[in-house]
Amino acid sequence: MIAQHQPREPQQPDPSQRRRAEDGAGTKRDLEFPPAPEALPFAVYDNHTHFDIADGDTVVSVAEQLEKAALVGVVGVVQVGTDVASSAWGAELAAGNERILAAVAIHPNDAPGLETVGTLDDALRCIDALAAQPRVRAVGETGLDFFRTGEDGRGAQFASFEAHIDIAKRHGIALQIHDRDAHDEVLATLRRVGAPEKTVLHCFSGDADFARIAVDEGWYLSFAGTVTFKNNHHLREALAVIPRERILVETDAPFLTPMPFRGRPNASYMVPYTVRAMAEFLDADLGDLCARITENTEAVYGSWVDDVGLSDQGRVATK
Ligand SMILES: [Zn+2]
Repeated sequence: MIAQHQPREPQQPDPSQRRRAEDGAGTKRDLEFPPAPEALPFAVYDNHTHFDIADGDTVVSVAEQLEKAALVGVVGVVQVGTDVASSAWGAELAAGNERILAAVAIHPNDAPGLETVGTLDDALRCIDALAAQPRVRAVGETGLDFFRTGEDGRGAQFASFEAHIDIAKRHGIALQIHDRDAHDEVLATLRRVGAPEKTVLHCFSGDADFARIAVDEGWYLSFAGTVTFKNNHHLREALAVIPRERILVETDAPFLTPMPFRGRPNASYMVPYTVRAMAEFLDADLGDLCARITENTEAVYGSWVDDVGLSDQGRVATK
């Protein structure tokens, strides 16, 4: 593919832009985007976001989101797919934009439905093909979700997870794991089939014990806005016991908005709220923590600006 010099935006997956699901109780949410935080002293990346899922009271283009993020020191993102359409869209977006890398996968909660209608294998073949693209640097989000998928869907979920692990290993790229109420089974599966060299527990949700196990396995822990939530002491305890070399940060936008804006729309420009809370809790120098996270993120996904074929002109200074 011929590299583009200007950032461009491929068409959103059909239907035109997927909306964030409203919370079931019909609770009225405040849909105004929160104010921008103070800029970070050192650039970081948001290693897990969903540009294709719209939220908020205004339509914000990918270009505007990237600009807003860069202004506060969030200089690049990993756009994460959850089905074939969003994965293909993310891969195309990343191919033309030096601030974006892509992750591609079938979400664990989508696997059972595809299996039922007989299209899971086809979908996995599409993901495998997308994973070969140079700016697709992770397979994810994949994993296990026992919160939303019941017993009857678990066979398909395990099969899909194992297939994704295999894709990541064959392409030599990272694995981004979605683990909801399934820590033991995620661990057992990765041990049984062998985890990829770069494995990331996205939106880490375990406690200090699980964090220690993950670190012993050589994996990375990515912290989302949930680490700022008042009652999530276990996440901050996990953060405190792991080496800084294993820490990543993400938004999982438009979900998991950090405090003090929980429940409002989330986007990559909100990362500084989470990183500041992390630095404060760790009693770490904010700039040092940011620098560490950036080094870790590049160790997992590679460089955002190398080998992309973009012109040097628009290159982003990440340091
Ligand atoms: Zn996600």
